[in-house]
Amino acid sequence: MEGKKKYIIDTSAMLSGNLNISEDGYVYPESVINEIKKGSLEKILEVANITTRSPGKEYIAKAREAALSTGDYNALSATDIDVLALAIELNGIIITDDYAIQNVAKYCGIAYSGGGISGIKKGIIWKYRCTGCHKIYDEYIKTCPICGHDVKRYSKK
Ligand SMILES: [Zn+2]
Repeated sequence: MEGKKKYIIDTSAMLSGNLNISEDGYVYPESVINEIKKGSLEKILEVANITTRSPGKEYIAKAREAALSTGDYNALSATDIDVLALAIELNGIIITDDYAIQNVAKYCGIAYSGGGISGIKKGIIWKYRCTGCHKIYDEYIKTCPICGHDVKRYSKK
């Protein structure tokens, strides 16, 4: 197994139906599997003998920090953060159709591949703009502290 590239599988890739889940080299974050078990796809897991893994705390912190930097943090679930953290920890490749995960992966220099659809071509840096006074914020806040209007995400090209 040493030296072999690991592929970190996220929920969207699991559900795409394009993966041979018993393939060697795939890593399943424990939280992804738990998420799928909650759904109707438990059958997939019964037939495959797969091993799950959880990322180390320091890698979760790194993934969070990166997601905050790109502005994707609020679009990511704890499971998504685990996927990113495992990819950082194992220097693996993420299989995902989730644009927010792909964007953070790109920012971190992590390779990724779409499970079914093609990935984004370039990284997007998200910014947040007040719908009232148009002030720009780097991080997501629900309400503008200046004028009280909603703050919405937009992409800075
Ligand atoms: Zn405002």
